[in-house]
Amino acid sequence: MPALTGKQYIDRIDQLKTDVWIDGKPVKGNISEHPAFKGIIKSQAALYDLQHDKDLKYALTYHSPTTKNLVGMSYLQPKTKEDLVLRREMIQHWARSNNGLMGRSPDYMNTVLMALASSVHLLKDQKNCFPDNLISFYEYARENDICMTHTFIEPQVNRTQMYVERSNEPIAAKIVGRNENGIIVKGARLLATQGGITDELLVISTGGKVEEGNGFAFAIPSNTKGVRFICRESFVGSDSTFNYPLSSKYEEMDCLVVFDNVFIPWERVFFYDNVPVSNIFMKSSSFLPFTVHQVVSRQIVKTEFILGIAQSIIDSINIDEYQHVQEKASEIIIALETLKALVLKSEVEAKIDKGGWMQPDRTTLQIAMNVFPSIYPRFTEIIQLLGASGLMSIPTESAFQSPIRKELNHYLQSSEGIGEDRVKLFRLAWDLTMSAFGTRQTLYERFFFGDPIRLASQLYFSYDTDEYVQRVKDILE
Ligand SMILES: Cc1cc2nc3c(=O)[nH]c(=O)nc-3n(C[C@H](O)[C@H](O)[C@H](O)COP(=O)(O)OP(=O)(O)OC[C@H]3O[C@@H](n4cnc5c(N)ncnc54)[C@H](O)[C@@H]3O)c2cc1C
Repeated sequence: MPALTGKQYIDRIDQLKTDVWIDGKPVKGNISEHPAFKGIIKSQAALYDLQHDKDLKYALTYHSPTTKNLVGMSYLQPKTKEDLVLRREMIQHWARSNNGLMGRSPDYMNTVLMALASSVHLLKDQKNCFPDNLISFYEYARENDICMTHTFIEPQVNRTQMYVERSNEPIAAKIVGRNENGIIVKGARLLATQGGITDELLVISTGGKVEEGNGFAFAIPSNTKGVRFICRESFVGSDSTFNYPLSSKYEEMDCLVVFDNVFIPWERVFFYDNVPVSNIFMKSSSFLPFTVHQVVSRQIVKTEFILGIAQSIIDSINIDEYQHVQEKASEIIIALETLKALVLKSEVEAKIDKGGWMQPDRTTLQIAMNVFPSIYPRFTEIIQLLGASGLMSIPTESAFQSPIRKELNHYLQSSEGIGEDRVKLFRLAWDLTMSAFGTRQTLYERFFFGDPIRLASQLYFSYDTDEYVQRVKDILE
């Protein structure tokens, strides 16, 4: 099946009948009709439909090297710098349709899988590693436009470096059985965003493993027997796009994933029982450069949207004469142009990597990945500082349909228009920065790619300062 349509995506997800629990109850019937999921599933379906838009089709797809079918561009393994540009443009077309608020639009995981499949040389001839399985899964996903969720980390039980799990029943998922057909996994993993509304689940160990049974990588269909997705509370306020302009459409659920003696056939295992590989594969693969290239491309679109909201607030209450207001808007402009420059620099300085693919510059993207988790919370602060009490003067849609409509339109008017228009704008700003959906967006941008503290220390240890230290030595001598 070539590039998916929205309807095909919805039908596929509904048919899976994945075991999803929310608020202590299993989801029954079509998940695409459930209040917690219908908005995001519709938004995701709209992305797939764009692949068939006559004006965008060739920007969003490419001809598969094996079947020649048109397949999603985010699966493209780049061979040239032009390919990196094609990938970025595709990512930004999709991101613009949701203003970068869907951190897990399928291009994210498609890129992760493409990056891992582009690093299979690291698994070649290693004990208990199956690089061909990874390639086959990548090709299967590409040809069938499979969407994925993933879980890379273990439950947050005890994060001291000395911690070793001593529970009789596994807490962190581990291999509890191996036989001629595959492995058996029991325990839990965190934190699958979009869990329950994807075709497949990718599970990879990401370092710090001391026991063989905790080191593995595999992919399985979301409805595999024994796999359960346990959701947090839904942050969808309601269906009203007036009241909840963002959460009604883009609320991506996060789930704990529980494996109850789940059988994973060998053909879906990428590695197992190999502590060194479990600890270094993700770090030494091209996961970081390719994935962060996708991430920053999306974050640029999101930053443009935030600048648009900030400027709309400034215009609506006419505060642009104040220097601190100009300075705050400039902070967003500076961040936006910095991100744009970083992504372009990563493409200009791209080089062919050891797998033979055109890899955007890793260090540049590491910088970008260290910038955004700290500037994003500042964006939300700026919106709050500019919006002030306006972010609380936000009556609901029903209030505007009631007998007090006239008063609301009069007393809540802005310098530009009636109360209803102003409230729509401020509800948008509130949903972005203050609702449960908005505060999750902030936590997401802080953490989804890993702990920012450890990302900074990775940058520090990988950055070569020898030449600069030598210059200091020279002058001292
Ligand atoms: C909204 C959201 C969505 C997410 N989606 C996904 C997903 O789809 N798939 C997925 O796999 N993951 C996902 N994550 C998880 C994400 O990868 C983790 O949040 C991130 O790796 C940090 O791990 P943690 O949350 O367990 O924090 P912890 O590691 O428990 O850290 C907690 C605190 O302790 C400190 N700390 C702990 N250990 C150390 C250490 N060794 N050195 C220094 N400081 C330390 C941290 O700095 C932090 O302040 C998501 C996270 C969020 C918030």
